[in-house]
Amino acid sequence: MSAPLLPPIGMLAELTHRCPLQCPYCSNPLELLKANRELDTLTWLDLFSQAADLGVLQVHLSGGEPTLRRDLEQLIAGLSARGVYTNLITAGVNIAEGRIEAFAEAGLDHLQLSFQGARQETTDRIGNRKGSHQRKLETARRARAAGLPLTINAPIHRHNIEEVPEFIDLALSLGAERLEIANVQYAGWALANRNALMPERAAVDRQADIVAAAQEQLAGIINIDFVTPDYFATYPKPCMGGWARDAFMVAPDGTVLPCHAAQTIPSLRFERFGERTLAEIWSDSPAFNAFRGTEWMQEPCRSCERREVDWGGCRCQAMAIAGNAAATDPACIKSPIHKHMAILTDAALAEAAPEGAESFIFRRIGAATRPDNRA
Ligand code: SF4
Ligand code: SF4
Repeated sequence: MSAPLLPPIGMLAELTHRCPLQCPYCSNPLELLKANRELDTLTWLDLFSQAADLGVLQVHLSGGEPTLRRDLEQLIAGLSARGVYTNLITAGVNIAEGRIEAFAEAGLDHLQLSFQGARQETTDRIGNRKGSHQRKLETARRARAAGLPLTINAPIHRHNIEEVPEFIDLALSLGAERLEIANVQYAGWALANRNALMPERAAVDRQADIVAAAQEQLAGIINIDFVTPDYFATYPKPCMGGWARDAFMVAPDGTVLPCHAAQTIPSLRFERFGERTLAEIWSDSPAFNAFRGTEWMQEPCRSCERREVDWGGCRCQAMAIAGNAAATDPACIKSPIHKHMAILTDAALAEAAPEGAESFIFRRIGAATRPDNRA
């Protein structure tokens, strides 16, 4: 018997794919949408209202860079009026004077600011924009002055993994209440840049030890969350807490998705808000129901005692590596192709360019197919 359908709790709203930075690990799809494909203000407000009716308690406003939406204050106010917790996920560059204060005034609950490096030269190089580190420091200061709780997000890969102690110092110096040290997951642009980004195993182990010691030492001062790298894992993570289980995301054009990379599964068709209501998509969409719960599982997941712990891991990683979205996530040690993760890691490291000569495919519209887009 299948479990009863629960309402979603969280929603990630990708308001736009536009962004002033070009991180080579961006989780956005390779085919980025232009501004003329974005939902307008009233449609987003209607969508947020339907999300609140459905039971959504928190909305993460993301992108691209969500502050490029001139109506962001209105969108925050709409969510706040419905009592929905709002978290703004921003790269923190070029936010006009007075806007952070206006976001707080509109009811923003929390701001999450990403740093590409703990050092200025790393941030500016990885985001491919000079001066961005300095602007982020200023954004953090303004957020704290506006009374907003702050999380620093540090996506980790080969080019900044040795900066983990400096990320901890940076987050403390900025008055953050939380630091998320998140190893890059190899989907989207990160998959296209896997050879350039993959860290050495020894560096991952050093980093894990440093984070564990800091978590103990700084307990009660700052929360440090640590997202481990799938390629070095024994068991997979419960991707999105389980496919279509308690969260979903919406792309800039209103396409409703169970996760970031879901559109890489070619057998699934995803519906857009407006074609159907959010409630209909959540409960009836064949794509949402495809991997919901446990009934779709094959062995070894089907009879595994962890099947309601990690929900079989990531469907998109199973698609990318096993070529079958219903397979056990290859990050799992019980997967018959688990050893491929180590083989892929070794191959990525063997093909990596020497430090300083890396050739990122930087994230920009049309870049994934343009051979001249090199660092
Ligand atoms: S990961 Fe980088 S490029 Fe992608 S949206 Fe965030 S700041 Fe922009
Ligand atoms: S076999 Fe499946 S359910 Fe069991 S730990 Fe691995 S991925 Fe999770």
